[in-house]
Amino acid sequence: MAVQRPKGTQDHLPDGSPKLSRDSQASAFAHVQDTARRVLERSGAQFIATPLFEEAELVKRGVGGSTDIVRKEMFTVYYFGDHGGYVLRPEGTAGIVRAYLQNGLKQLPSPLKLWTHGPMFRAENVQKGRLRQFHQVDYEVLGSTDALVDAEAIWLMWEVVRELGLTGVRVKLGSIGDPADREAYNAYLRDLFGTHVDRLSDDSRDRLERNPMRILDSKSAGDQALIQELGVRPMLDFLGEEARAHFGVVQGYLTAWDIPFDLDPSIVRGLDYYRRTAWELHHEGVGAKSALGGGGRYDGLAAQLGGPEVPGIGWAFGIERLLLALEAEGVALPQMPGPLLYLAAMDEENVGLAARLALEGRSRGRVEFAYRAMKPGNAFREADRRRALSAAVIGSDEAARGVLNIKTLGTGEAREVPLSELTTFLDDLSRQAGEQA
Ligand code: AMP
Repeated sequence: MAVQRPKGTQDHLPDGSPKLSRDSQASAFAHVQDTARRVLERSGAQFIATPLFEEAELVKRGVGGSTDIVRKEMFTVYYFGDHGGYVLRPEGTAGIVRAYLQNGLKQLPSPLKLWTHGPMFRAENVQKGRLRQFHQVDYEVLGSTDALVDAEAIWLMWEVVRELGLTGVRVKLGSIGDPADREAYNAYLRDLFGTHVDRLSDDSRDRLERNPMRILDSKSAGDQALIQELGVRPMLDFLGEEARAHFGVVQGYLTAWDIPFDLDPSIVRGLDYYRRTAWELHHEGVGAKSALGGGGRYDGLAAQLGGPEVPGIGWAFGIERLLLALEAEGVALPQMPGPLLYLAAMDEENVGLAARLALEGRSRGRVEFAYRAMKPGNAFREADRRRALSAAVIGSDEAARGVLNIKTLGTGEAREVPLSELTTFLDDLSRQAGEQA
């Protein structure tokens, strides 16, 4: 058998491919990216691109040594120079904050809104919606602690979802308070679970030492049963005055902007640098445990990476998860329009002329041409297969007279167009197609 793609990866395929599913359809993928770009750029976010691989140290500090991502899921890259190891980035935030610090982006007007999209890598157990190479759209704001920035970040996610045409999405909102609040909560959890160590999973026993909040996030059914049984109090009960006020402001804006949300105490971010607001967007079609995206405030991250204190907040959508949600809801996607014109020549000596006219026509839109001479019947069939709006087959007579006999495929109507008027013809066609779309 020919070589196969690695487990947990996907090919994104052209429309019409025989093995196409929504989450592998390249045009659907591009549609999600374009929608996100539109929404984010309207908010003033600027595009940033950072490397696909980073120093392992950045990922360890940025994502946290106690997380599954760092402990079990890193793709480490070695090369013959025997460097200590790079890591294929598992998420976008650490690289963006590194780039901000390294390139002096603090000088730009603040708060600075950035966005990116691209592949992320985690060596996870593969299942539906859980891949080893997946893609995210990422939004990050650096330089402000204002609660309005948090609310706007959530609004932007909501807007992406709305523009995509999804309806079954819920926002789950939480706050993990300030570091002192979290310390108090962790002390409470340590006491509570400390008397039931024997019932915790191995992973959670380890978490009890390092980071008890992460027990609440456990995937183990036994841990979850214990959490229910003990009636664990939520983090929200432990918020200090300032974090509580901040959280109140965020909720006030979301309510004023008609964004429905549920307070969800299970939203925990165990890492030290996370502060205050944390949220996830869920969709019933993707599954309860699988978020479409999530975000949070990370005011301590820049310092954790060795820089000065720079407050930040950000979110990421999983593009494949959005595609699964679109599929589950049966949302129709805009199709890539076919060419305005398909040009062929009846004989070999006019193939060059067809090509030249097509190249010129491309200043007006998509125009394709045949590389070999064709009989008119074949040329029109080919134009149909490509969903062209119009087609013409140049013969010696047309070439001599400097005209094209162009057939509009939708109506079957044919018209003689002087070569000097080809661009005007294409402009008209393009406008009509735009009006019908
Ligand atoms: P995270 O960086 O873990 O907060 O993830 C943000 C979003 O990325 C999630 O809500 C998912 O939509 C998506 N995501 C995370 N991990 C995966 C994965 N292994 N496969 C597909 N999508 C993922």
